[in-house]
Amino acid sequence: MSDDAVTGIDTFSQESRTFSPPSEFVQNAVARPHLYAEAERDRLAFWRTRAQLLSWKTPFTETLDWSNPPFAKWFADGTLNAAYNCVDRHVESGHGSQVALLAEYEDGSDATYTYADVKDEISRMANVLTDLGVRTGDRVAIYLPMIPEAVFAMLACARLGAPHSVVFGGFSADALRSRIEDAEARVVITADGQFRRGKALPLKNAVDDALAKGAESIEKVLVVRRTGGDVQWTEGRDVWWHEARETASAEHEPVWVEAEHPLFILYTSGTTGKPKGIVHTTGGYLTQATYTHRNVFDLKPKTDVYWCTADVGWVTGHTYVVYGPMANRATQVIYEGTPDTPHQGRWWEIVEKHKVSLFYSSPTAIRAAMKWGEEIPAKFDLTSLRLLGSVGEAINPEAWMWYHRVIGGERAPIVDTWWQTETGAIMISPLPGVTSTKPGSAQLALPGISADVYSESGEPVGPGEGGYLVLDEPWPAMLRGIWGDPERFQDTYWSRFPGSYFAGDGAKKDEDGDIWLLGRVDDVMNVSGHRLSTMEIESALVSHEWVAESAVVGAADETTGQAVVAFAILREGNEAEVEAAGGEDAVAELLRQHVGTEIGPIAKPKRVLIVTELPKTRSGKIMRRLLRDVAENRQIGDTQTLADASVMDLIQQGMSEKK
Ligand code: ATP
Ligand code: MG
Repeated sequence: MSDDAVTGIDTFSQESRTFSPPSEFVQNAVARPHLYAEAERDRLAFWRTRAQLLSWKTPFTETLDWSNPPFAKWFADGTLNAAYNCVDRHVESGHGSQVALLAEYEDGSDATYTYADVKDEISRMANVLTDLGVRTGDRVAIYLPMIPEAVFAMLACARLGAPHSVVFGGFSADALRSRIEDAEARVVITADGQFRRGKALPLKNAVDDALAKGAESIEKVLVVRRTGGDVQWTEGRDVWWHEARETASAEHEPVWVEAEHPLFILYTSGTTGKPKGIVHTTGGYLTQATYTHRNVFDLKPKTDVYWCTADVGWVTGHTYVVYGPMANRATQVIYEGTPDTPHQGRWWEIVEKHKVSLFYSSPTAIRAAMKWGEEIPAKFDLTSLRLLGSVGEAINPEAWMWYHRVIGGERAPIVDTWWQTETGAIMISPLPGVTSTKPGSAQLALPGISADVYSESGEPVGPGEGGYLVLDEPWPAMLRGIWGDPERFQDTYWSRFPGSYFAGDGAKKDEDGDIWLLGRVDDVMNVSGHRLSTMEIESALVSHEWVAESAVVGAADETTGQAVVAFAILREGNEAEVEAAGGEDAVAELLRQHVGTEIGPIAKPKRVLIVTELPKTRSGKIMRRLLRDVAENRQIGDTQTLADASVMDLIQQGMSEKK
């Protein structure tokens, strides 16, 4: 192992297991490899062709205007409407009776909406929003649970050219208020309440709180009735959706907007700090959303049933629940509840019920399922699944193998997709049927995308070396800025390597040129001059049969600069073995040694703490910065986007008891 810090992050040889695509995909793929060649030949021509996946009201003549970087314009003189592309055109082409949404509610009830139904609903809602004063360009906040109305609300806004700002329904009144204020939204769409783990929880009261404390730009509140619970009502301001809907016309002419018209603002997850209001526009975003969804998931609109488990509050819910799948006329499941309500097999029950064929989820969900045990998914028929996807964090090779074997029945290829709120759509991923997959690697930039790994000094690194992941060419779905803060936009993404977008993530290139994500560069540890990746040590821990999940941080250390501190959650069902091994302290020691053997003595954690939960964002990502605060005995930082604040108390307690 080299300790030459200039080459970036020290990396260890990854067990290189590759899987060839099943024959079915190879047959489907005959036409695919040409995508790489096509993009290689002429990148802009490639994107021009992809833009033809959309219906344009006025065709564009210029593909890319990059004369004022980092402010890109794609397809700028074309006009279109995103909702028309996602809904109306399918109805017009004779597919109105195809199911668009299979909505599963937490209590086991369901509802089905065809594309024709969705067209009526979003047209009605667009008419109601117009009556409430919403005009093209006005911002609308959406604060809803994962129910069909959330999808309708987004598309109704898109119909009007009114950028939406979706705020996750689990966020607090304060988080909602600060996002409304930042975007100066005029209307907020919410629900009386939402079902979570079998309980009806209020939601509108958070809107009332937010409006009592500020959010002065809001004029009207449109309220969906979901739980039927009591709500406070402000006459003249609050409007029931089900009442307004009664008299609203189902006819509505979409507003044709320029390609660069903003489609939405979305705040990042806040894993590394204060959330940023990321701005996406219409033509480029929708082009890449549609193309990537079609090709990465190998979508067959007539036969596939697709399910992406993300909430619409995250970018994955925007691009791979609403815009990509619907522009491609997918039939998809959306699910209101949590994976463990009313039982830990709920997701797999839904896969069986709707014969889901394409399934897109996150490493955190897969690790939770691993923790609960494979006998749970084994109770359900998962043979309909033909492709699995992963997004949100790097997937540990062990979790990848479990996903492949237990959920995918060793048949379904896995696409590990790397992208960000900022990139708008998938950037790095295998293509099913083309790429032989490697557990734990997102592998290759998609055709049309240019990604590289740079050294500290901004030179591309060689095979086997680590560094900083950059995107060195503009792409259609790229963010157009941070809402109201062009300076932060330039500083955050474009100042580290002038001319290139720096994603904030560390990565390495292997001998084949495949890309492995190594975690946030802010999380890279420096132990006695060696730069270690959190991801690799975590994967080593998870490779132990007792460990379900782990998080690793570097804590200041007098002798080594930084010391590795690891937190690990054990899988359920091994209690007897853990006891026999001498209890948790003995297991912690055993895991330290395990990392030493898997990676090398330098990576051996100074401490391993066995915990029952890890601090995560609401989108399920581990917030290592909070663990670093604990490990260094500091005041805990910003926890606004933390899913469960009590987790930090538990961990702090555990830390001090074991000091
Ligand atoms: P913030 O920017 O506010 O700290 P965030 O980065 O978590 O929050 P997102 O845009 O939701 O917000 O997440 C993007 C990040 O998620 C990427 O930069 C990367 O660190 C991680 N990520 C997503 N998919 C993958 C993947 N397949 N492999 C590795 N990392 C991934
Ligand atoms: Mg980020």
